[in-house]
Amino acid sequence: MRGKIIKGIAGFYYVHVMGEGVFECRAKGIFRNRKVKPLVGDDVRIDVVDGVKTQGNVVEVYQRKNCLERPAVANVDQAMAVFATANPPPNLYLLDVFLVRMEQVGVPALIGMNKVDVDDGANTEWIHEIYKRSGYPILFFSVKEGENMNVLKECLAHKTTVLAGPSGVGKSSLTNYLHPSAGMEVGALSGKGGRGKHTTRHSELFALDGCYVMDTPGFSSLEPPKMAAGELKECIPEFAPYGTNCKYLDCVHVGERDCAVKKAVEEGGIHEARYGNYVKMFETLKQGERFV
Ligand code: GDP
Ligand code: ZN
Repeated sequence: MRGKIIKGIAGFYYVHVMGEGVFECRAKGIFRNRKVKPLVGDDVRIDVVDGVKTQGNVVEVYQRKNCLERPAVANVDQAMAVFATANPPPNLYLLDVFLVRMEQVGVPALIGMNKVDVDDGANTEWIHEIYKRSGYPILFFSVKEGENMNVLKECLAHKTTVLAGPSGVGKSSLTNYLHPSAGMEVGALSGKGGRGKHTTRHSELFALDGCYVMDTPGFSSLEPPKMAAGELKECIPEFAPYGTNCKYLDCVHVGERDCAVKKAVEEGGIHEARYGNYVKMFETLKQGERFV
């Protein structure tokens, strides 16, 4: 049978087979013979050992489409950055770092803005304004009020989606909404900083009518991913239509003269908040290069 690893704990792999359920599997042979360590998200072939007890053996790991590192998960179709429109207020630098990270690994990203019910419309409007030219699908919803949840479900249908975002924005609530038996612990916001409870402990995909969703403990880093500062511009989709019109071919759009990207920022073709975060990430990467 063919299935997907949804969880790995202490040498056991839990393999979800559509229409059958979850099988608790070992993967001894694969480890020994091919040195493949199965990952959450891997599509695998299993032999059922005991149909009644739903136990089996992973006998083959199919070719991976891609593989993320933190969290370690294979075959990701898309990643959704989840933030709240308010409470806690969204940190758009964190969002932009995340978008760059996904560009770098080639995983399509979408932006999910939860808690529209606590926003009077102002945040929703300026966030929309900032990202509307980025090309990233952006979705405003409220898990609590059920607002726009059908559209959100459509975005996730038939795909494996990694959810990422700071704690307190409603990722556990969303996972529970999509998959009521997931039993994710939903924490109340506590403290002045609007920080939520401790985050998810291990990686687990939740299966739901043909789609898989994973709430991740990682992806909260403010560090831009490791790359040469000069490559960062390739990770900002809005730059693409302008970048080739700069005076210098190797323009990084920071201090150069006759820069078409900077001109587009001045004229409103690229939002200055997105550009500002680009410059901040660029400087951080440059700083790192100085110490190499
Ligand atoms: P996580 O840390 O990202 O997993 O966030 P949780 O799912 O634990 O939610 C954090 C808090 O936000 C909890 O108190 C939830 O009840 C609350 N919450 C989640 N979704 C919504 C929403 O759409 N609107 C409002 N007002 N609160 C929400
Ligand atoms: Zn330029």
